[in-house]
Amino acid sequence: MSYKIPLFDLNFDENEERAVVDVIRSKWISTGPKTAEFEVKFANMLGAGYAVALANCTVALHLALKLVGVESGDEVICPSLTFVATVNAIRYMEATPVFADVTSMSDLTISPQDIEAKITAKTKAIIVMHYGGFACDMDQIMAIAKKYNLKVVEDACHGPLSEYKGRKLGTIGDVGCFSFFSNKNISTGEGGMLITNSSEYYAKAKLLRSHGMTSMSFERAKGHSTEYDVIELGYNYRMDDIHAAIGIVQLDKIEEDLAKRAIHRKNYINKLSDISSIVIPFKDYTAFSSNYIMTIVLKDSESDKRNKVREALAEKGIQTSIHYPPAHRFSIYEKNFTELPLTDYVADNLITLPMYSKMTEESIDYIVASIKQVLCA
Ligand SMILES: *Cc1c(COP(=O)(O)O)cnc(C)c1O
Repeated sequence: MSYKIPLFDLNFDENEERAVVDVIRSKWISTGPKTAEFEVKFANMLGAGYAVALANCTVALHLALKLVGVESGDEVICPSLTFVATVNAIRYMEATPVFADVTSMSDLTISPQDIEAKITAKTKAIIVMHYGGFACDMDQIMAIAKKYNLKVVEDACHGPLSEYKGRKLGTIGDVGCFSFFSNKNISTGEGGMLITNSSEYYAKAKLLRSHGMTSMSFERAKGHSTEYDVIELGYNYRMDDIHAAIGIVQLDKIEEDLAKRAIHRKNYINKLSDISSIVIPFKDYTAFSSNYIMTIVLKDSESDKRNKVREALAEKGIQTSIHYPPAHRFSIYEKNFTELPLTDYVADNLITLPMYSKMTEESIDYIVASIKQVLCA
């Protein structure tokens, strides 16, 4: 089905095309100078010490947990209202995900109170996810981590350039992870980035990204080294220069893209705020946000009603989504199931509305008018 207003649209033009062609013509298409340039540009943009470009964010999360020392049998506290990769990464380490609830209907980030309540002698780390590009309560979370000697990994996939008290998301915990999957704020097709201020984590991430080898083929091709040793059991988690070249172009556009999204969000909020039967999460949020997604939550509702609203909007040509089916209700997390009343309610009654820089004010008018019609019907 093709929608009049899609959920998302790529912010691509001939600049991305040219960047790809240039890399192909250079004949160095795997990890190389473009990847290194993308890393430096990304780290500088966020004020992070180091950045390591990777194949995607799922592997960034895996490496992050490895860097902070999560081991088999450890517990890692995480949200359930996230993309399942956040949680799967914990399982890659043979550790146990312990789900914590969201803060409230209007703050869909992980609850610091629930994090503290879920800490046991086995807890090793916390993964937070900055839902929609809106920051978790990092002061409280870092204080809890300090008190119990836990590591903090930030899944900042939704939040490039988002801020918390003047600091960029992803730079506050021990390691930050980003995704450049096609529908993210920065798109390269597949792609991810790990950032950290620790030189030790940085060195280890670079090793693990490429088989645990002490030098990369690009360095050897340049004649910088001819031999290598393998000193860790690593992976092939590399990004290549074709994706990195797209990423570099995307970084040139990100500020303008986010500025447009901020205007769209403001328009949405102004136009939606007289609907008494919905909650607009993060409505009064004032810090800079990447506005990855625009969500509403139906009040006094249940999933059937929400699904009917989504169907009615689809009939009007408006594509919507649900961020997210909660991880604790998936079959593979049956053994880790726990009651999360707020997450359950939100997951059953949330609707993700279209959000992308190229959308128009007219389309927002149409979406809001359609929601009013559907909810009053
Ligand atoms: C997209 C996303 C991921 C996974 O990223 P990939 O690059 O697709 O592996 C993980 N966590 C969150 C919150 C995401 O939105």
